[in-house]
Amino acid sequence: MKTATTHTTTASALAAATAPTGKVHPLLADLPPAAPALTSRAADVLQQLEQAKEGQDANYCAFLDLVAEEIRKAGDSPAVLDNVLALLSPKTPCTAYAWCVKTGDHDEHMNACTSATCTDAYGREVLSVNLIDWGQGVKVGLLDLDLTPGEARDKLAELRTHLDHIERLIALAEQDPTRADQ
Ligand SMILES: [Zn+2]
Repeated sequence: MKTATTHTTTASALAAATAPTGKVHPLLADLPPAAPALTSRAADVLQQLEQAKEGQDANYCAFLDLVAEEIRKAGDSPAVLDNVLALLSPKTPCTAYAWCVKTGDHDEHMNACTSATCTDAYGREVLSVNLIDWGQGVKVGLLDLDLTPGEARDKLAELRTHLDHIERLIALAEQDPTRADQ
């Protein structure tokens, strides 16, 4: 009789572990350890994350949920929160150079590459140029070289001379061969 009762109790316990909706409650052993109390800063960020989800696509919302989960687990981890705040806040422009396109904290500066509007027969860009500073001062990226402004001016002078030569060749090509005596 006693065995039967125990059996019934176990069955009831199992039944009780199943919600009326059919949703299975997790066993105590499967539950994560009690989450630490959230600091007010963490609570603040969690609220911002909820707001940031408005009108966003499912992937982005899932990402924000993941971040929120990490924060809840950590309670208030400066590392998690700093990363989150950096993601949420608008990117700060470069403080060193007005021409630098990089944002946020960075040591290597550069602006966008520009090339001649025409490409060569293979679609390759011609004479691309940009400004860079890898920590050795501002350089001009030209002809696959990192040139000081002075060196870049010298290269430019050589290129101008070459362009003049191209122009002379074009003029030669335009000459009427029948009037070669001129
Ligand atoms: Zn910069």
